[in-house]
Amino acid sequence: MSTNPLQKYFRQPKLFLSLPSKGLYYSENSFNGDSNNMPVFAMTGMDEIIMKTPDALFNGEATTKVIESCCPYIKDAKSVPSLDIDTLLVAIRIATFGEKMTVEHTCANCGTENDFDVDLKSVIDHYSSLNFENEVDLGEIIIQIKPLSYQELTDFNIENFKLQRMLFQLNDSEMLDADKRKLVDDIYSRLAQIQLDLIVASIESVRVPDAVVSEKEFVKEWLANMDATNYDKIKEKLEKNRDAWNMPKQDVQCSSCGTQDQISFTLDQASFFVRE
Ligand SMILES: [Zn+2]
Repeated sequence: MSTNPLQKYFRQPKLFLSLPSKGLYYSENSFNGDSNNMPVFAMTGMDEIIMKTPDALFNGEATTKVIESCCPYIKDAKSVPSLDIDTLLVAIRIATFGEKMTVEHTCANCGTENDFDVDLKSVIDHYSSLNFENEVDLGEIIIQIKPLSYQELTDFNIENFKLQRMLFQLNDSEMLDADKRKLVDDIYSRLAQIQLDLIVASIESVRVPDAVVSEKEFVKEWLANMDATNYDKIKEKLEKNRDAWNMPKQDVQCSSCGTQDQISFTLDQASFFVRE
């Protein structure tokens, strides 16, 4: 096919990103380019439609499609490490709608509804200043940890959501108490299983003086047979990383009574990617 004369009118990169992951933790062939200078394009009309499709939003497909569309260095967005997801979504929003985002907040003191402008550039700067701690030191044992991929994170969240919903529905049902108890116990044990799977998925390898173990079954067996102190140390480190990578809070002040507060916003795509 000959070259399209319209090609020079295609969308151009709107900004260049330095990825918080530094390009690490991507699976093979899923990232191709300079992680320190990655171009980000605005969403196309088609991307905006995908972002309004409830099913595609729920199972993560909308997010992966739009990331691949706007960030051509990313070949498989399912494998994007969770560290990069918020930065990518904020960058895509900046590329599409600009650097400011209006967030509504009701003052807890006087009830005034205020609109605040969030500078999304500062959110990107915040994430690029963070460092992912990838080691848990248990003395003789050193654990190498990794962030979950977007796909892993989405699968865990969906499973968790389904089980929580089952619990909720059981509460309302008119089942006999004994039957109900059995089902509730079953759901709780599945929820505990998810927690364990999440830790297994976060462990890259375990180094002991005479071996490096990366087989998931061995790691899982070890987790099930370790003392609680070590288990808690691993859990603490994973939680510390997760908390550090939460969306930063913004300081705001009520326009009416002057009360100071902190607001946070989520990247709930349904509202985050709708034109204001
Ligand atoms: Zn107020």
